[in-house]
Amino acid sequence: MDLKQYVTTVENWPKEGISFKDITTIMDNGPAYKYATDQIVTYAKELGAEIIVGPEARGFIIGCPVAYALEIGFAPVRKPGKLPREVVSADYGLEYGKDTLTMHKDAIKPGQKVLICDDLLATGGTVEATVRLVEQLGGQVVGCAFIIELTELNGRAKLGDLNVKTLIEY
Ligand code: 5GP
Repeated sequence: MDLKQYVTTVENWPKEGISFKDITTIMDNGPAYKYATDQIVTYAKELGAEIIVGPEARGFIIGCPVAYALEIGFAPVRKPGKLPREVVSADYGLEYGKDTLTMHKDAIKPGQKVLICDDLLATGGTVEATVRLVEQLGGQVVGCAFIIELTELNGRAKLGDLNVKTLIEY
């Protein structure tokens, strides 16, 4: 399936100069959403992933159906103040300033094999902070899967030797 035809590009959103890739037009198409999910399920099986980790909010949309299909767990990565129990935190740089991501302290078991899922790899800041969270918890990141990669932003460079799979490139 040519998944790219289901992505909608929205120019100048959320601000001038940004060419936003909208994946809701993959999600609202049953066969396209299933196809994208199945590609990542196959990848997760190859890696022997034991739990899926996804950053809010679109990482949930991609990661949860993968976890369901594999009958493994899903652990959410959230902005500060959203998770109700003790958390670990990781900061990451934005164009102006910084942001923080958190995970529950007991979300990952030591040594557990983790696949990180999100909709899009841009600069890699979000996924790199997510890798640090998983590693703080003693988890082993076996791979990172995305629907879309914006190759010009070279997010892969932030991920070193980590195994990365993307379904569509721009
Ligand atoms: P990065 O941290 O790699 O620079 O940006 C990736 C994060 O920002 C992802 O969590 C993703 O959801 C969001 N993001 C950035 N640009 C886009 C875009 O054009 N489309 C979508 N769907 N998400 C984006």
